Amino acid sequence: MKLDSLLIHGGIDGDNTTGAVNVPVYQTSTYKQDALGVNRGWEYSRTGNPTRAAVEKLIADLEVGKYGMAFASGLAAINTVLSLFKSGDKLLVSDNIYGGTFRILDNVFKNFGISYEIVNSSDSALIEAAIDDDVKAVYVESPANPLLTVTDIAEVAEIAHKHNKLLIVDNTFLTPYLQRPLSLGADIVIHSGTKYLGGHSDTISGFVVVNDKEIADRLYYLQNAIGGVLAPWDSFLMIRGIKTLAVRMERHQKNAQKIAEWLENSGYVSKVYYPGLKSDPGYEVQKKQADGPGAMISFVLKEEYDYRKFFKSLKLITLAESLGGVESLVCHPASMTHAAIPADIRKKVGIVDELIRLSVGIEDADDLIADLEQAIKS
Ligand SMILES: *Cc1c(COP(=O)(O)O)cnc(C)c1O
Repeated sequence: MKLDSLLIHGGIDGDNTTGAVNVPVYQTSTYKQDALGVNRGWEYSRTGNPTRAAVEKLIADLEVGKYGMAFASGLAAINTVLSLFKSGDKLLVSDNIYGGTFRILDNVFKNFGISYEIVNSSDSALIEAAIDDDVKAVYVESPANPLLTVTDIAEVAEIAHKHNKLLIVDNTFLTPYLQRPLSLGADIVIHSGTKYLGGHSDTISGFVVVNDKEIADRLYYLQNAIGGVLAPWDSFLMIRGIKTLAVRMERHQKNAQKIAEWLENSGYVSKVYYPGLKSDPGYEVQKKQADGPGAMISFVLKEEYDYRKFFKSLKLITLAESLGGVESLVCHPASMTHAAIPADIRKKVGIVDELIRLSVGIEDADDLIADLEQAIKS
């Protein structure tokens, strides 16, 4: 089945018992056992729940992976994946990643003796140079948050595997509709399902997909042991959101391309970060490894414009954390999503105070451009 059909019919398609076209919400914590040690495949809903199992199979199908796991948030998924490692292990991490990923590495796992080193993963040679015996995995986002830096996933996978290390890819920004990291050689794919997969800014969720049975078994064990699982109702909402992923992503991208090109030629900005622009350093790699550039744009307003006034003057576009919903959202990474990253690291990678991150929604592109223009001019 092609991906567009899998979005609607992948996973567990409907309900066999009644013929309901939607997977029911199994709002139950436990299951009747027919005799001591005899159950019907379900024991306790932290361990397994049929609604969650449906969305877990769906995300595995979409990522062309064998094993999927659903979590209460993207960070619950990340927490579980990082729990694969032990004291003394080290991770190489992209130099611009989601602020919360940085926070859990720096303020949680570092306390358990798991260290990290930040590298510019868009330069594969820097990754190879940073690999030593302690390094157990490379962790990247592509395009990364918030500067949309593109990492060559196949190239980094080859380097990681040559040295017997794992490659973990956070695929939140593109979703499997646009990029399938397992097919490019990654070992573990992570999602914040809160964003494009859910798509309506109404559910927090996370996913992990892998192909390797041994890694999967360990992750299933950790999912149950740590317990940050996705609830039945939220699993249902994720299945519902995913059904329209293809049409949403197409429109998100069409709008984003138009807005990025407008911004670049507008004279209002000193920089536009968007891998769909020919001027973007990630353009060629993005074209090679993904089916599109996605719909996240970051830009730096020229000095003569006041970014505080810009945020205050927007009328249609909402100032908020998060991304990937049908409505356009704008944020100020330095004080919002990436505030957890120390100022010196932020400056070094380019997360300056004038940086604005735009999650382009599926409204009318001209309305969005008009709103941006009036807010910049004000
Ligand atoms: C939002 C986000 C996360 C964290 O996910 P939550 O669902 O908010 O816990 C991780 N990675 C990326 C790239 C994100 O955008």
